[in-house]
Amino acid sequence: MSRRVEIVTPGEEICVIEEFLPVDGAYDDGKGKVRSIYVGAPEYDIGNHVVKVRKITNRPRLPLANDIVFALVTDVKDTVSTCKIFEIENYGRLSVPFTGILHITQVSTMYVKSLYDVVRNGDIIRAWVLNNNTPYLLSIKGREYGVIRALCSQCLTPLLLKGFTLYCPRCKKEEKRKVSFKYYIRMR
Ligand SMILES: [Zn+2]
Repeated sequence: MSRRVEIVTPGEEICVIEEFLPVDGAYDDGKGKVRSIYVGAPEYDIGNHVVKVRKITNRPRLPLANDIVFALVTDVKDTVSTCKIFEIENYGRLSVPFTGILHITQVSTMYVKSLYDVVRNGDIIRAWVLNNNTPYLLSIKGREYGVIRALCSQCLTPLLLKGFTLYCPRCKKEEKRKVSFKYYIRMR
């Protein structure tokens, strides 16, 4: 069996057709060799004797309007909060974080008195992007958006979601946030 290559470039040999037949992203060169169409990572299916090439996009794209993103909250004031966007959902981590701005009018369809009741420093939010340039304006309107991970403001223990409120199991107290229904740890 030939060497299992991890990354291939277009035209590069992946294996011989006796080993794996080419499917997506690979082709038979007519001389018994399987070669890649893309810059990518070969994925071998040993059971079915096929190989495909998963395309690698080495330039993660920038956030765009309507993307869903994950961001770390770095500053909170009464009406505006600053975050660092670190990941685009379905596109992966960004190589450098981008600044996101969450304004109090983009939190809920209901009246919100202060952003301190919505997010706190160190929280991770799931938000969607409203524009195509930095600073990206974010919205967390809707049940799927909002805080997905929060730490206790006193002891930094991850807060648990208990019903609709966040609870510190160590301090035995509740904290207020606008929680996404994708919050990651729940209390049974
Ligand atoms: Zn605590």
